Amino acid sequence: MDEVSAVIAAEADHLTQLDAAIGDGDHGVNLTRGFLAVREAVASSGDLPPGRQLILAGKTLVSTVGGASGPLWGTALRRAGRALGDAPELDGARLADALDAALAGVVELGAAESGDKTMVDALRPAVAALRAAVERGASLAEALEAAGNAAAEGAQATVPMQARKGRASYLGERSIGHEDPGAASTALIVAALGRALSA
Ligand code: ADP
Ligand code: MG
Repeated sequence: MDEVSAVIAAEADHLTQLDAAIGDGDHGVNLTRGFLAVREAVASSGDLPPGRQLILAGKTLVSTVGGASGPLWGTALRRAGRALGDAPELDGARLADALDAALAGVVELGAAESGDKTMVDALRPAVAALRAAVERGASLAEALEAAGNAAAEGAQATVPMQARKGRASYLGERSIGHEDPGAASTALIVAALGRALSA
């Protein structure tokens, strides 16, 4: 969460610019506020196992982020946390299960399919790449690198898409030619997860 909070804050202007092009220009501000609150909540929560920390993080995001990304990422983190339960440590298989649960939560709440130009277009390929790497016996660091690359490619692939969910969908064809801000932030978050867990 420290790593995520730091990279989101550093990239806030960029995320806000992306959102200004096809949304309302608050995505960087939204997520920066949310993950700063998450960082504080987790830091003052004592010695919780990772799953409990993620549930706390998710609740904090829901209560601090007004835009669509608050409930979506909040649900993702809560579901991931529930999937981890009280496991004291993360390994590749547990992490793949947690990310699967996170993706399922986002899809359940937002009903976006692949190709709708949302965070799902970055998260789904990341989860698939992580799972595939774990199943072929890759190390956690390798699996996370594969997930990070897949998320970044997925975010880039949103550029030519027409948005069918969220605020950008109001623009119709004018949403084409811009990277989706939520997919871009998702790629940053997956990469931050990789750096934190491979360190
Ligand atoms: P808002 O659109 O309310 O201002 P944000 O700017 O914080 O919220 O977040 C916008 C991002 O949320 C979009 O770029 C998209 O990736 C994501 N998003 C919006 N609606 C959905 C949805 N139904 N399912 C998945 N992701 C969504
Ligand atoms: Mg917005």
